Amino acid sequence: MQKILTLHTDRRSGLYDITSEVVALIKASRINSGLASVYARGSTAAIMIQENWDQSVQNDVVTLMNKLVPSGIWEHDHQDNNGDSHLKAGIIGPSETIPIINGNPGLSTWQNIFFCEFDGPRERREVVVTIIEDK
Ligand code: ZN
Repeated sequence: MQKILTLHTDRRSGLYDITSEVVALIKASRINSGLASVYARGSTAAIMIQENWDQSVQNDVVTLMNKLVPSGIWEHDHQDNNGDSHLKAGIIGPSETIPIINGNPGLSTWQNIFFCEFDGPRERREVVVTIIEDK
């Protein structure tokens, strides 16, 4: 089963919790055991599993990436001024694979799935969710 989730983002950089949408697809698949691949389409976005308790961790991820990868100093900035966005997305990576255990995502209590925006705001971002059964 494969579905495309869409979302819009409202700032240049930020983490957006997409856990409930992914859980709904896993439930709809009726698969008891398997894998869910969550993949961000776009070279300036990423997927990260991260703590969901408090917004501070999400803010800290953005702060970390801004410290690691300052803007405005990259060769690619001459093309479309978002060299840092591509590098941040590349470091985190475009996808995560989540085990499906007894029909539920095998996330711990404090793990959620986040879409990471590094070149927003965007009207439409796409996340491909592919669910495969373990037979
Ligand atoms: Zn670019």
